Amino acid sequence: MECAGVGLHSGAPVHLRILPAPAGSGIIFRRVDLDGFEVEAISRNVARVSYATSLMKRGVLISTTEHVLSAFTGTGIDNAIVELDNLELPILDGSATPFVDLIRKAGIRKQRRPRTYLRIRRELELREGDKFIAVYPSDTYSVSYTINFRHPLIGKETFSVDLSDGNYLREIAPARTFGFLHQADAMRQQGLIRGASTENALVLTPDGLMNPPLRYRDEFVRHKVLDLIGDLALLGKQILGNVVADRAGHAMHTALVSRLLRDRSAWEETTVEDGVRRDAPAAYAAAGQAG
Ligand SMILES: [Zn+2]
Repeated sequence: MECAGVGLHSGAPVHLRILPAPAGSGIIFRRVDLDGFEVEAISRNVARVSYATSLMKRGVLISTTEHVLSAFTGTGIDNAIVELDNLELPILDGSATPFVDLIRKAGIRKQRRPRTYLRIRRELELREGDKFIAVYPSDTYSVSYTINFRHPLIGKETFSVDLSDGNYLREIAPARTFGFLHQADAMRQQGLIRGASTENALVLTPDGLMNPPLRYRDEFVRHKVLDLIGDLALLGKQILGNVVADRAGHAMHTALVSRLLRDRSAWEETTVEDGVRRDAPAAYAAAGQAG
């Protein structure tokens, strides 16, 4: 299954294809324009992180990975290859829904090997000024996010969701990225948002929205949840834990990932979801064929 678009920050045209991968591979990006060079979607390859999360391996960049990785977690995909022919993922409509649709069209295949979870055993909290992110033990994967922007359409918003029962597809995937019109010129001068438009981002004016309607009244905070789930995918495993974030961003999301991976006493690997079910859930792969 293939799609085409432009990168949000680079504005570069890009084609994307999702292919199946064997159990245990995880998510792998493959640059078909660079002899098929592969960059694994894991914490070790995290490079620049500011307005988007980028991976780099031996000088090869994969930019703005968070939305497609979020879609993989949301659809329960553990293993897949993402082929692209440029340095940045396409922004499409600014949400994860087009990636979810692409994954569903490719098909989802149950694999024989049990899925490995990263189960949080004790809390880990990071603070930076008024920004906060933490993870706490839980039998399911849940996320709670708070943002606070001085804007008539936003203000203080909190959104909490348990990702275990299909909530991602209904509550999170459609939420689009957003930006403030008054910051656009400065960001363009930094080489950012060159592909941004009212087709792929919610654009906030000082007192409203350039491109209504919103898909949810609180679409902004839901998009932050989407981003966080995408960044946490860099753990390389589905989490069993409750993640809480307050005014965090990609840098803090990925800092939590690397701190967690370094602190082996904070988690354990398990193949059992809740200790009650006897059958371990299987790993799932994107199937590659049109379904
Ligand atoms: Zn985003």
